[in-house]
Amino acid sequence: MMSVPFTAVLGAKKRIAAHIHRTPLELAARLTEHCGVPVWLKKEHQQLTGSFKLRGATNAVLALSAGQRANGVCTASTGNHGRALAYAAKSIGTHATICMSRLVPDNKVKAIEALGAGIKIVGRSQDDAQAEVDRLVAEESLVTIPPFDHEDIIAGQGTLGLEILEDVPELDAILVPLSGGGLIAGVALAVKTLSPKTQVIGISMERGAAMIACLAAGKPVVVKELPTLADSLGGGIGLENRHTFAMVRDLVDETVTVTEREIADAITHAYEHEGEVLEGAAAVPIAALLAGKVAPKGPSALILSGKNLDIAMHRAIVSRTHPVYQKARSHA
Ligand SMILES: *Cc1c(COP(=O)(O)O)cnc(C)c1O
Repeated sequence: MMSVPFTAVLGAKKRIAAHIHRTPLELAARLTEHCGVPVWLKKEHQQLTGSFKLRGATNAVLALSAGQRANGVCTASTGNHGRALAYAAKSIGTHATICMSRLVPDNKVKAIEALGAGIKIVGRSQDDAQAEVDRLVAEESLVTIPPFDHEDIIAGQGTLGLEILEDVPELDAILVPLSGGGLIAGVALAVKTLSPKTQVIGISMERGAAMIACLAAGKPVVVKELPTLADSLGGGIGLENRHTFAMVRDLVDETVTVTEREIADAITHAYEHEGEVLEGAAAVPIAALLAGKVAPKGPSALILSGKNLDIAMHRAIVSRTHPVYQKARSHA
């Protein structure tokens, strides 16, 4: 018995429909030529807030009771989950508090403030910010909504799998960026229910691929976080992981890692050939195809998961002046 039922994904689809964009699935001419099979891009980086995280966050906020909504929600994420939760709370009419340390850069603080969230700046580390979240939950009855290991989050992300198969029902493979596994667990739940033959392949960066290390260990383990162009894929899966570890282990067919240089080349490919700005985490499926690490035998879809990156960094990558392109670091 799967810890999250397929019906939860169907429920999420109905619940969030009025609050999110149904993003396009478009054929990628150059990648189709490169692979010799049709390659489709699920352009979820065009989602409101710039990432798929809005699906899960919206589903989770809509699932709250009236009493919980009155108290509001909180998280310590300043990345795509924090943005999504801030936006979802505002659009649904509750209040989000995003806790962050003093070290979080000003532009990130402003971006989340602009989405209508309350900001609490505490301490000097992510752990301090998380401690404040724990306090708000214990003392002020706020509800914390985690970024991936939660039934409503997984079900919300799974709606991407439903949309892809609605548009192209016969797929050999779906390539999905993989970090904590909320995205791929939801997508695999939908895809393995509706089209069991379709391969679900998870892609992580070589530098700090936490879920892949946990799969190898057979249980959740601590994995060192390293700087990477795919920063949205950083972080662990939680030693007390309840859902995503088992779902990824049981439902995902294959996992693959890509190098920093391959990620940079994929960001550049998306920009030059598709006219799309992708963050590193979103470019990893393209990286896997261009590097020949995944060779699909039939029509395939790639989930492009987000577009939130520093635009000066994007410019450095696509103009090949970024340090990842220096010879001495080409192993990185
Ligand atoms: C969060 C995130 C991912 C990874 O999702 P998980 O559910 O943690 O596996 C991939 N891409 C982007 C852009 C993200 O924000």
